[in-house]
Amino acid sequence: MNKISDIAIVGAGPIGLSIAIAAARKRIDYLVLEKSMLVHSIYHFPTNMTFFSTATELELGGLPFICQGQKPTRAEALQYYRRVAQYFDLNIRYDAHVMGIEKDDGYFSLLLKSGEKVRAKNTVLASGYYDHPNLLNVPGENLPKVSHYYKESHLYFAKKVVVIGGRNSAAEAALEIYRTGGEVTLVHRGSGFDDKVKYWVRPDIENRIARGEIKAYFNSNVVKIEEKSVTIRTENGELLTIENDCVLALIGYHPDVDLMRRAGVRVDDETLVPQHNPETLETNVAGLYVAGALTVGREANKVFIENGRLHGEQVVTAIAKKLAS
Ligand code: NAP
Repeated sequence: MNKISDIAIVGAGPIGLSIAIAAARKRIDYLVLEKSMLVHSIYHFPTNMTFFSTATELELGGLPFICQGQKPTRAEALQYYRRVAQYFDLNIRYDAHVMGIEKDDGYFSLLLKSGEKVRAKNTVLASGYYDHPNLLNVPGENLPKVSHYYKESHLYFAKKVVVIGGRNSAAEAALEIYRTGGEVTLVHRGSGFDDKVKYWVRPDIENRIARGEIKAYFNSNVVKIEEKSVTIRTENGELLTIENDCVLALIGYHPDVDLMRRAGVRVDDETLVPQHNPETLETNVAGLYVAGALTVGREANKVFIENGRLHGEQVVTAIAKKLAS
């Protein structure tokens, strides 16, 4: 018979790590199941990204995070979270891709891609949102020249690039590509950049647009993508076809609700918010909890490391009470 952990935590992102640290501190037996690598989303962030949050705001378990500049870089965050995993000696299993969750006799069985089953009294889903990009749902979106992720600018040198979106990912990619020698056209359905754009990025992108260095179409939507062009509907309703080599649709991400639904969690079709108690984060399935971006569904950018890390203590306190009763 397999060992039964008190808590199975799905996802070794910062939120999953915060749950593991809280569990370890309460001497609760836990296991983190991670399908790929430690802090997989941060690894896939743009190579040269600098966080909006300060280093202190990204700290876990009170372990100091010292960075060189005012704000930490992606590379510094990767180094810090590796240190967190080592320092707290966290119990993480990598290459453990959870494909299904069943509840039987009061215990959870987490079915891994390898065919193995992991058993636990409680399960916390902390798998984030970065694996599931929002889609434009327009013809041509699946062409190889279209990507929903941006990594580095070199690939776009001397290319005609359409960047779609009006927040941090789109603004930062547009600027980097412009500075690398790409010809950037930004298309956003809103009337301007969102307030959430980093305070040092927003004037930069707005000035590039004002000077015509980056072309921008606001209140505009992409209607079709073809091998050598992108067609947009502009704010006055006209269709405009732009010559184009590459498209970056940086329009956000959403959590995987499929796994939750198959486990019996009721998820709102519109908002993708799972039914849960906001105090304990327990879903309608007793013993199954959600944490981090999973708690807010489509509004994934409302919960980030800075506030999501508090979910660790919240969930573990609720589970500890149950285990003690
Ligand atoms: P985001 O913050 O979710 O913004 C998505 C953008 O795409 C918005 O401008 C949105 O427009 C637009 N959009 C959404 N659906 C669309 C559709 N179907 N058609 C056209 N436009 C659409 O996405 P993001 O900028 O990629 O950021 C994702 C997450 O990564 C966020 O949590 C963000 O904080 C994080 N991030 C962090 C950093 C960092 O430095 N820490 C850097 C980049 C990203 P509306 O405003 O009209 O909805």
